[in-house]
Amino acid sequence: MPADKIEVVAINDAQEEPQQTVVPHERQVVEAVIALWKEDASTESLGFGKLHGLVKKKHPNWQLSEKRVKVLLKQYGLAQSGDQSAFSYAKDITSLPTPHVTLPKTVLIVMTSKRGKCLYAKTAIKKGDLIWEEKPLFAVPLLAHYSLIASGKACTHCGKLGSVSSAGETVLRGLDCNICSEIWCSLTCKKMDQTIHSALKHGLRATAKQIDAEAFHSLTEYCLKEQWNALYAIAMIYAFIVLDKTGVKGEQFKAMARVSQKIRYKALNSSAGAFDSLQGGALFVEEQQEELWKDGYLRFLRAFPKAAELVSMDEFLHMMGTYNINNLDLSVFLLQSHLNHNCAPNCEVETALQKYKGVKVVAARDIKSGEELTTTYVNPSHTLQQRQRELRVNWGFICKCQKCKDDEQIQHRRKSSTGAHQKEKAEIRHMLANSTEATDGEFEIPLDFNGERRKSVRFDEKVVKVTQT
Ligand SMILES: [Zn+2]
Ligand SMILES: [Zn+2]
Ligand SMILES: [Zn+2]
Repeated sequence: MPADKIEVVAINDAQEEPQQTVVPHERQVVEAVIALWKEDASTESLGFGKLHGLVKKKHPNWQLSEKRVKVLLKQYGLAQSGDQSAFSYAKDITSLPTPHVTLPKTVLIVMTSKRGKCLYAKTAIKKGDLIWEEKPLFAVPLLAHYSLIASGKACTHCGKLGSVSSAGETVLRGLDCNICSEIWCSLTCKKMDQTIHSALKHGLRATAKQIDAEAFHSLTEYCLKEQWNALYAIAMIYAFIVLDKTGVKGEQFKAMARVSQKIRYKALNSSAGAFDSLQGGALFVEEQQEELWKDGYLRFLRAFPKAAELVSMDEFLHMMGTYNINNLDLSVFLLQSHLNHNCAPNCEVETALQKYKGVKVVAARDIKSGEELTTTYVNPSHTLQQRQRELRVNWGFICKCQKCKDDEQIQHRRKSSTGAHQKEKAEIRHMLANSTEATDGEFEIPLDFNGERRKSVRFDEKVVKVTQT
């Protein structure tokens, strides 16, 4: 295409601000600061005074004092990482010895008083070695695939899209359900899924006392409408548990690192809500959240008529919290869930596209005998502040790993020589501007704040909207 055919359109995306001064809502202030951090991650280490100055520059008509910025950031748990007033809930997480677990020969489970269960290397492990692989204890399908599944366009177990013949019909080869319109993609999926499928979708007599298929269906529709994945997930998990005649799955779920969603919500409310509202969500006031939980709980009890004596509201919230801190890509894995976090982990967890295939845990580097095995819960390329905030809100602890300590030292040094820092940044910018090659590999500057954040999965129990009653 000749160059003169390319039309250049100038887009004016500047916000039109009214000219008279306004007092911004506290959420607007917090969001303005977060927007700055997103734009330039290095501003995360600025003090309140400089942040205030930058916000004022962006919103000249705001009537806003430096003190208010400081108070609000503290209130929302967004102050500096070293701030001890930030809410964390690691002490509220409990766990029990894991029953009926088969360990790989190179791995040991250790119970600690402060950090719960940990995995340790029993022998030296070479970089790249497969340490173990496992299938999910609870495979939770993607709720968003539900309508595709219901109309027989995707596998009801793994969510894989059905193959279509030249005549435009889905090729089934005996993999369709003879009662409803749902299909499986393979014999493996059909075999693994048949019992739960019958119980949840057809309400067969054998399971009808435990699971009300119609109520389960309406619960699923409700979760879809509210985008409440965690409720759907714990309903699936509870179905797996009641259908497991041995009772082992229920015991194993109870033994996992356990915390009430109510406690997690405190941390969420103090910070992540502000992040989520930037992505189209809304901050929840506590009363609304309580209402929603109650609503979800009642629907849960309708789907499981016998659960009323076993699952109290408090237990329901514990199930939700436990699911949220233990799931990996929605599903729950027994041994993998024992891996603790490190921002520079020595293990890599590889997930398969087809969920039932499970995960592989591989040594990311040489591991010595007696070393703790770790994984990362967050994107290690994110800044110290981002990582610490995500870890504190989603998993309740303040990370003190070596990488965090090192990063903190670097920041302290930079702060004490801001001039040098500015110069260095200008140099980097200059190099980036003049570089014609992709520079991703050469500069480890976390320019991308958003990325695929696992937090959105962990916190998806917070719906994006609520209907006012
Ligand atoms: Zn499948
Ligand atoms: Zn069916
Ligand atoms: Zn760390």
